[in-house]
Amino acid sequence: MPAAAKIFPPKTKTSAKPPAASSGGKAVKTERNCSVARTLDIVSDAWAFLIIREAFFGTQTFEAFRSALGIPRATLTDRLRKLTQLAIFRQVATRSSQRKEYRLTKMGFDLYPSFIALMQFGDRWLSNGKPPPLTLVHTLCGCDSHPIVSCSRCGKSVGARDAEYRDGPGAGRSAAKEGRNTRRASDNNRFLTGRPSSVSRALEIIGDKWSFMVVREGFFGNRRYDKILNELAIAPNILTDRLNRLVGSGVFRRRQYQSSPERFEYLLTDMGLELYGPFIAMLRWGDRWLSKGKPPLILTHIKCGQDFEPVVDCNRCNSPITAADMRYRLAYDPKSFGALGPRSVE
Ligand SMILES: [Zn+2]
Ligand SMILES: [Zn+2]
Repeated sequence: MPAAAKIFPPKTKTSAKPPAASSGGKAVKTERNCSVARTLDIVSDAWAFLIIREAFFGTQTFEAFRSALGIPRATLTDRLRKLTQLAIFRQVATRSSQRKEYRLTKMGFDLYPSFIALMQFGDRWLSNGKPPPLTLVHTLCGCDSHPIVSCSRCGKSVGARDAEYRDGPGAGRSAAKEGRNTRRASDNNRFLTGRPSSVSRALEIIGDKWSFMVVREGFFGNRRYDKILNELAIAPNILTDRLNRLVGSGVFRRRQYQSSPERFEYLLTDMGLELYGPFIAMLRWGDRWLSKGKPPLILTHIKCGQDFEPVVDCNRCNSPITAADMRYRLAYDPKSFGALGPRSVE
């Protein structure tokens, strides 16, 4: 797959040297500024993700979130508070009672295209031959829709081999955030709580931060263990674990490039390459809402030669999709999950 090297040539001055910015003689771990990592900081918390997903389906009250997800009250209280602080939700008082409701903000609704891009990936690669849990019906055109990630400038679809990167005004490295999203991928089955969802299946594979960052290095053309280790400032046992899992789930394949000692490199499979759509959809959300107008990366669409923003378009009418314009045909009964199935077409 020699193409990757040409396509992802981030010979970024900022990223050439790995971690260890020194502060007071003590090495501080740093990580590349990345709008996708910032986005995943939010949605890779399984409960936060599931709450946002239920909100896309119209859930607004504490009790409705609780019954749909079977989530402990204290956990739900905590996540709703955090998501409100992040301005993904706002609280509104209702007329009938003192009970507060939770509504997605503009920023929250704007996560929808990223969810849909992940859903398309999950439908295609992770549904084990079964029909997807949801069919999307786009009300603008009335068609069953399979949204695609495309170029804001020319409208054509953008795949992993169609774009180039360069550093944007927000490029550089910052102190790595320790902790909350570094749990093992094996804990990720919590994403599968509640209604069946292709987005959950996708996050189960890439939803912990390290798994995702390893995939991102693949998009940057970094294939070799030592290079990835260096770039991410990750513990060797964690990198080995994540690479093994990602090979196991079919995102990477391993190829030997040296025999004594044995050395392997990790190449994205066709399935892995298709994570690119969700990847740049999340990138755009993070750029828009979390990077203070300074995107770390600028994308250029090779086909049209222009710098672009990724947009998630309906494949039938080419309009950008929004949560408000989508209806759903469900392959399951939402009531068996205590959940809403609003705006369904049947
Ligand atoms: Zn283009
Ligand atoms: Zn449409």
